[in-house]
Amino acid sequence: AKGKQHMNLAFIGHVDHGKSTMVGHLLLQSGAIAEQQLSDGEDKFRFVMDKLSEERERGVTIDLAHARFDTPKYEFTIVDCPGHRDFVKNMITGASQADAAVLVVAVDDGVMPQTKEHVFLARTLGINQLIIGINKMDLVKYSEEKFNELKEEVSDLIKTVAYKPKDINFIPLSAFEGDNITKKSDNTPWYKGPSLVEALDEFKAPEKPTNLPLRVPVQDVYSITGVGTVPVGRVETGVMKKGDNVIFEPPGASGEVKSIEMHHDMLDSAEPGDNVGFNVRGVGKNDIRRGDVAGHTDNAPTVAKEFTAQIVVLQHPGVITVGYTPVFHCHTAQVACTFLELQKKLDPATGQVKEENPDFLKTGDVAFVVVKPTKPMVIEKIKDIPHMGRFAIRDMGQTVASGMCIDLVPAK
Ligand code: GDP
Repeated sequence: AKGKQHMNLAFIGHVDHGKSTMVGHLLLQSGAIAEQQLSDGEDKFRFVMDKLSEERERGVTIDLAHARFDTPKYEFTIVDCPGHRDFVKNMITGASQADAAVLVVAVDDGVMPQTKEHVFLARTLGINQLIIGINKMDLVKYSEEKFNELKEEVSDLIKTVAYKPKDINFIPLSAFEGDNITKKSDNTPWYKGPSLVEALDEFKAPEKPTNLPLRVPVQDVYSITGVGTVPVGRVETGVMKKGDNVIFEPPGASGEVKSIEMHHDMLDSAEPGDNVGFNVRGVGKNDIRRGDVAGHTDNAPTVAKEFTAQIVVLQHPGVITVGYTPVFHCHTAQVACTFLELQKKLDPATGQVKEENPDFLKTGDVAFVVVKPTKPMVIEKIKDIPHMGRFAIRDMGQTVASGMCIDLVPAK
């Protein structure tokens, strides 16, 4: 896979519409599942699927999440499929931000509640590239008419959240029989578009966010003999060069970047995705800490006095009301924030407002809220710097909600 570009891919869609089966096929076609595991004459696909369901029965969630497979152009990592408990949390916190998604819709069932919910989520989470897999075509004798009916219905759905059906591949598939997965199937002579693997190769490679303002959340701060104070962190956005003037917020400590190191090599500059240690003239070990964020002095990280967020309540044993103060995990920061206002509840399937000023929020609710950090905290609007605008809300040892910052009131 060396030299290939990398993409994170999500499989979304209603339960039982065939996501796992499709992933199983993709892993096989790319050789991601080792041939030597298979004895001669064995039906490879069935073998894999049996193995998967065996593990399922044992209660092990098959780790299709994080599985990798190759197409001619890309190396894909599969990020958590929805249904997996932490899917929304992982996506929102960026632990596994997907670059693209395959929406699977079974032709016999059609558009179902989770189909709608996942389309809406994909849009809110910033997934801009989609493939629509119309699956289980074998159940309708590969009928072009049935395919077109569902294509129409799905087009109407995705248009409601501003996806453009004409830019999206709709593919008739049988994940079970393998039709149109790698190459075009004889069962669908009426279909002129690409196979699933060909369509995956048509995705555009994600660009490194080098044009956004520099943001480096601090993970740790070390004191190194002969160098001095070395904050360590991952460059989320922008480019940091030796000689740049940087500032750490919230404390406001600033100075010139004297050195940048990655894997024991000295660098002249660091880009998004680079995990670096760097030394800043005049900034000492006690001036900064985990959760602070470095940026250029002339475009400093934003410290929020309060912010408006869109949240999804994932699992809360009770209800969320005004005054609730759980811990928000945002980039490397952990800060308790108080709910000041519950503005409105949305219908997760459509994104439409369901209720203004609700009294409380419970599991499954999607809402706009206003929160106030109990101490200074860096967060950015999702539309300005998406990488710095997502968070998870934790309480009692679990993730109760996740969300993104829509608007904010700066503290400075
Ligand atoms: P998921 O919940 O979306 O991951 O769905 P699965 O991949 O677990 O599939 C659910 C069920 O549908 C399983 O029994 C599969 O064997 C079956 N299935 C998946 N794809 C197809 C298909 O293309 N045709 C048919 N007939 N069955 C399929």
